[in-house]
Amino acid sequence: MQTNLAERYANTADGREAEDILRKCVHCGFCTATCPTYQLLGDELDGPRGRIYQIKEVLEGATPTASMQTHLDRCLTCRSCETTCPSGVDYGRLADIGRKIVEDEVGRSWMQTLIRQALIVVIPNRQLFSVLMRLGQIFRPMMPAPIRRKIPQKQTAGLWPVREHSRRMLVLEACAQPSATPNVNAAAARVLDRLGVQLIAAKEAACCGAVAHHLSDHDRSFDAIKRNIDAWWPLVEQGAEAIVITASGCGVMVKEYGHLLADDPLYAEKAQRISALTRDISEVLSNEDLGSLKVRGAKTLAFHSPCTLQHGQ
Ligand code: SF4
Ligand code: SF4
Repeated sequence: MQTNLAERYANTADGREAEDILRKCVHCGFCTATCPTYQLLGDELDGPRGRIYQIKEVLEGATPTASMQTHLDRCLTCRSCETTCPSGVDYGRLADIGRKIVEDEVGRSWMQTLIRQALIVVIPNRQLFSVLMRLGQIFRPMMPAPIRRKIPQKQTAGLWPVREHSRRMLVLEACAQPSATPNVNAAAARVLDRLGVQLIAAKEAACCGAVAHHLSDHDRSFDAIKRNIDAWWPLVEQGAEAIVITASGCGVMVKEYGHLLADDPLYAEKAQRISALTRDISEVLSNEDLGSLKVRGAKTLAFHSPCTLQHGQ
């Protein structure tokens, strides 16, 4: 797609990256067929091609509007359009750039600002989120069904193995997961322990930065990214084989650290290495000899591959 960036974007890193992405789009519309918001709403502006077109207009100098902001807000960032696209358009990255520009220029009502700030501040704060989750779980039985369904029942994390192994991997103990589903990482640690791998959670690592990033607070997301890199780096230098992620939304974010910090003189190299080491737990297990677990029985397990794992990684 031919683009003529407005002067104020033409010389920025985001502008140049967006232009490269836009040039790949041939406007064929194949992606609309697999976009859930287009399928639901039936409006071209709520599909990937329409959103790409709106971002292009803004980058070419059109004034962003509240309507554009709504169409971009409705995108789930599932990236289904990326795996459908025959031209390799990096829609997710373009959406991040477009959302940030529109956000800066259109602004929000005070109520929307309050909600978004609350999400940015509360979710990544593990302690605060854990207190709120506990309160939600206590009062869950009294809540209306639609809210009750959204609050997971209290889950107890099983034991974390204490055996040491020469093979070691890091695991991201993120923001919401330790209080919502604390047994996930503990179970991963137990399985890997039986495979001869020690799973370690670096204490200072926390939220991957996706919450702030997708709410267009890039300063805060970059701070989170750098904090995690600093927390993992000494253990990577000591030979950690991988950074294991058990929440695919975090996985897709950590795998993009290298790209997001590519122009950072202090962090670019480290971020590349961290992203290259990052693996979803399913990727890790698929490369191990699971026969050594000697699982007996005829139970069938279902595996759900989330959109961020299927399309983003
Ligand atoms: S499928 Fe790819 S090239 Fe075609 S309109 Fe969608 S993003 Fe553009
Ligand atoms: S990321 Fe998902 S919701 Fe957003 S435009 Fe692509 S397919 Fe549609």
